[in-house]
Amino acid sequence: AADLPPLTEADPTAKALGYVEDASKTADAKHKAGDNCSNCQFYSGGPTGRGPCQLFPGKSVNAKGWCVSHTPKKA
Ligand code: SF4
Repeated sequence: AADLPPLTEADPTAKALGYVEDASKTADAKHKAGDNCSNCQFYSGGPTGRGPCQLFPGKSVNAKGWCVSHTPKKA
């Protein structure tokens, strides 16, 4: 499949959920150390690069990114 276009921090939905391309750069108090898209249950991409997120259909998020809806992947 073709790569999905990247979600940007300027996207209105991304802004609403506090999405950042680099989890280490967020100032959101809800961020817990170590949490990023790659260990979120809504993410279905690889450990690096970009991949799909169920909350942002049609876009790719950064494996190192983060948003307030982060939910740890089930083991
Ligand atoms: Fe990343 Fe999870 Fe937020 Fe999607 S829901 S942007 S995978 S932290």
